[in-house]
Amino acid sequence: MKTLPLFPVTTVGSWPRPPALLDAQRQLRRGRIDRALFDGVADEAVTDLIRLQEQVGCDLITDGELRRDNFYSFLAQKLDGVRLMTLAEMLDVVEDKVGFERLLQTLDVPAYSISNPTCVGRIVRREPLALDDLRFMRRHTQRAVKVTLPGPYLLTRAMFVAEVTRAVYPTKEDLAEDVVSMLREEVLALAAEGADFVQLDEPVLSELAFAPGRTRTFMCAALAARKDPAEELEFAVTLINRVVSGVTGVRLGVHVCRGNWSRDETTLLRGNYQPLAPYLERLHAAQLVLEYATERAGDLLKFENKELGLGVVNPRTDTVETSDEIRRAIERALRLYAPDQIFLNPDCGFGTFSSRPMNSTEIAVAKLQAISTAARELRGQHS
Ligand SMILES: [Zn+2]
Repeated sequence: MKTLPLFPVTTVGSWPRPPALLDAQRQLRRGRIDRALFDGVADEAVTDLIRLQEQVGCDLITDGELRRDNFYSFLAQKLDGVRLMTLAEMLDVVEDKVGFERLLQTLDVPAYSISNPTCVGRIVRREPLALDDLRFMRRHTQRAVKVTLPGPYLLTRAMFVAEVTRAVYPTKEDLAEDVVSMLREEVLALAAEGADFVQLDEPVLSELAFAPGRTRTFMCAALAARKDPAEELEFAVTLINRVVSGVTGVRLGVHVCRGNWSRDETTLLRGNYQPLAPYLERLHAAQLVLEYATERAGDLLKFENKELGLGVVNPRTDTVETSDEIRRAIERALRLYAPDQIFLNPDCGFGTFSSRPMNSTEIAVAKLQAISTAARELRGQHS
């Protein structure tokens, strides 16, 4: 792992896709261009983004998930046994059609814009999920590199659509077994290949804490949670720990947020981390990457034996936080965490769904710039 300065600046993952890449994604989906041509366009976009992050002052570089359609559906291309189903197709197969339709109505996402990676056969890791992306990044930057992956709980929830999955995996727990081994294999490969940071995204955890029994999420996955929230959280901790336990040579992080699919803050979940704390503290991950710029996340909590990836800018607003505001947020965190326990990041990605980014590149850059200015100022005082 490369040495990082105090208050390392990084992103949570997704970044707005440039127009040429969006176009290539569309062409690829329609079969008008081949994979190699798409990769050429994506390589250029990722290289540009790496340069941009270096210029802005990011210490831990990501590829912005630019090659992915969204943060988890890309798995359909990498795994056997997974098929992307549109919401219309889902509506055809689910038994609870009324409930499902009600779910769609509460969403602030055009239904056609999402496809769910659904498990329709035995899960086999046909090709690595992000290993090639890591190799590409390492060829194009000397800085430390972060790789993001959907977490095992999110994936199990998303992929298990009882009506079509049950024939292969009778229960969600059965599916989880193969999801865990597939992800563990990937994390081990990323560590061996020199990733500095691997982040597992588990946004649905907040739904268990803040909307138990409600299916107000951007994923059809919500249909698969019928158990007691405490039992589900316990299940999630077990899965994550089985993926990462004993993995060395790489910093592991888990990202949790309250939804990042809408700019309408009232449709997103609200509540502080207290109900999640006993579970998050038990994760075998060095760092929790958490949103704190939005007031919906409540007061800062001290998580024992954890580094904090402190969310200091809101990816869904046009107003750019000032470096003074960010510095004050870091100073508040310094009352609970040592300087070398704090990483700086936006609350979540800037471009969750490729067709529907949460912000423009210009604003995203300005926000990162503000973070890196604040980091530079504070490094002087704390080194
Ligand atoms: Zn997030």
